[in-house]
Amino acid sequence: MQIDVLEIEDTRAKLLIYDADPFIVNALRRTLMSDIPKMAIEEVDFHLGPIGTTEGGRVADGSSPLFDEIIAHRLGLIPIPTDLKRFNRRDECDHEPEKSCPLCTITYTLHKVGPCTVYSGDLEPINGPEFRPRDELIPIVELSEGQAIYITANAVLGTGKEHAKWQVTSGVGYKYYPSVTIDDSKCTDCRRCIEICPENVFEEMDGKVVVKNPENCSLCNTCVDECPDSIKVEGDRTKFIFSFETDGSLSAEETLKYALQHLADRFEALRESVSELK
Ligand SMILES: [Zn+2]
Repeated sequence: MQIDVLEIEDTRAKLLIYDADPFIVNALRRTLMSDIPKMAIEEVDFHLGPIGTTEGGRVADGSSPLFDEIIAHRLGLIPIPTDLKRFNRRDECDHEPEKSCPLCTITYTLHKVGPCTVYSGDLEPINGPEFRPRDELIPIVELSEGQAIYITANAVLGTGKEHAKWQVTSGVGYKYYPSVTIDDSKCTDCRRCIEICPENVFEEMDGKVVVKNPENCSLCNTCVDECPDSIKVEGDRTKFIFSFETDGSLSAEETLKYALQHLADRFEALRESVSELK
């Protein structure tokens, strides 16, 4: 299997995978969705009762319009910057599983007094400013006059297999590499394919219809339905266009490298297990 990077940005990647079988490419897709570890908020402590403010010694009520469970759920879904070399899974850390330490846990505090909207950027990381959520404008809750929240939250490592809040990637998908050809001897130059193709695969050049962007083709065959004699669309079953995005907790490059290493380790473990059967 060979992989060429067609496009890679901080949180998205588009790859060309060739000399591969669909089951291998699907294994990569499933690994990207469920096996990449990331930090996410798992425990939230709410301060109950009156919360003091610094403004003129006012005291606000420790309440908000949302149930605590809803706020905790929203906090869990905020992408937390993750350094996989720095953190252990809590159950693999060198202490009791119910305890925590800076090697397995990022602790945040959140103290806001209404009226205001509480955003993800209001989370204050105790472990260091590098763990501040990169997406600072995710709304959590709107507080009215006299309302306040004071929260301590712990983020730990997990994977998408355990809960969707630990899923690093989204929009993970692939398609067969498209091959689009026009038989000029049968093309009537009606231009219908240019009009109906939703992906702008065709264009007119020097009075003829030509295939401009074959990689855009989604193999929908709308053009073939229109001109079955002259247009041929096929997917190459050994070549794939693969794309995914991350939520920003890890970069697309880190995520892909981790996924490929994880797959290689799993296949190696399977090979060793099978060889022991002999
Ligand atoms: Zn620990």
